[in-house]
Amino acid sequence: MLLCAHELGRRAICLPTIVRRCHACASDRFHANGKFRVNANHKLLDAWLLALCAVCGDTTKLTLFERTKVRAVQPELLDRLHHNDIGLVAELLQDPGVRRRNHIRLNWANAWRLDTGSPRRDRDGVDVGGDSEILPIDVVVRFAPRIPARPVRLIVEGLRLSRAEVERLVAEGRLVSAVSLGGRRSDDFSFTLRKIGHSQTVFDPEGP
Ligand SMILES: [Zn+2]
Repeated sequence: MLLCAHELGRRAICLPTIVRRCHACASDRFHANGKFRVNANHKLLDAWLLALCAVCGDTTKLTLFERTKVRAVQPELLDRLHHNDIGLVAELLQDPGVRRRNHIRLNWANAWRLDTGSPRRDRDGVDVGGDSEILPIDVVVRFAPRIPARPVRLIVEGLRLSRAEVERLVAEGRLVSAVSLGGRRSDDFSFTLRKIGHSQTVFDPEGP
């Protein structure tokens, strides 16, 4: 199960790094600090999400909406903005409109962790030898939050194998999936690890 890396109280929060050029230093990484700013001018509202430069701490404002009539803003949203709802930060960053408006990209590295359900005491990876008794195994990877992640990386981490080993298993047709394991995805997927000689099908990591 893919879970958020950060926890705030009892809530799991998935916060990516915001990729944007800092005007004060050479950094291009910002972290949302969970704060919003709402400005009222007569009956018009502006709202921003604040983020701090990861290097110099300079603040940047990401525009959520500008000069919007109070009545046009949902009261629930306004309430969450006023209360600096950290969950709202994660929701808004996942909104493509917010990203486009502010010319930002997101980096999801370190935003997630993988819960394999069975903590292994040893540090060894899964025995993938051809005569291994545990094979074949079917694994389902579930995404609790829809964070884009590389399936190969999740398999590497989940099975505690090296990337080269996973790539070799894929090339040998022993690690197969109905979905493309190349690139990133944010939907549940499953894969099967088979014994040697089980099938001659060679999996194409680039997909159809
Ligand atoms: Zn900076």
